[in-house]
Amino acid sequence: MEKTKNISVTEQNRRLREKLHNDERKYKELLELFERVCESVGYDKLAKSWNKDYRNGWVSSWTWPLYEFLNTKVEQKITANIRNEAVDIVRGIILQLVVLGKYGIKLPFETCPFDVDANEKKKQNQYLKNYPECLVCGEKRITEVCHIVPRSQGGSDHQDNYFVLCPTHHHLFDHHRLSKAEWASLEQALEGKMENAIIYAKSIRYEHMKSQLSWRDDLPDDFKRLV
Ligand SMILES: [Zn+2]
Repeated sequence: MEKTKNISVTEQNRRLREKLHNDERKYKELLELFERVCESVGYDKLAKSWNKDYRNGWVSSWTWPLYEFLNTKVEQKITANIRNEAVDIVRGIILQLVVLGKYGIKLPFETCPFDVDANEKKKQNQYLKNYPECLVCGEKRITEVCHIVPRSQGGSDHQDNYFVLCPTHHHLFDHHRLSKAEWASLEQALEGKMENAIIYAKSIRYEHMKSQLSWRDDLPDDFKRLV
């Protein structure tokens, strides 16, 4: 008697309702956590100007008001470094909250300040069309920065949170469509990245990659029947 072989429509609906219920619960918990963090870091004054739609634009809803706050509301002179540090801390908090809420995975809290010099060099190289090679294929006529933890989820703009890839491999990476061999070519470079980027890549990006058609040969037969 195999109960799970054919799942009835009723059962499918029940599972779907359960999933939605869990998502809603996680979302509520996330909001509560978010409010508590707001209070504990003392930015409640900014609440008026926050974008209340937390599902989208998490990063800008935190960093932009903070940026404004540091520039206009505080008596002392705020340097670019202090501002970048503060924004970086908020990004770290957002990253933890978003990833925990979305995937149930707790990433270590880690900050990685914006590297002004490295960014200047990057811009200069782009101007000179002197691009570093794509880590996957070696293309260097044009390459881009490909974030491991997406910026939309609080991912840092530091080089320890991105790979240099050509536009094709960047697109395939973002859409979880790299082949196994292409993914393998990134593994060594991944070891030198931020700890939270490594964990994100291994437990979220890799899992997404494995769910793609071209990767399914590796899956146990029981699972293959379901996909
Ligand atoms: Zn490439």
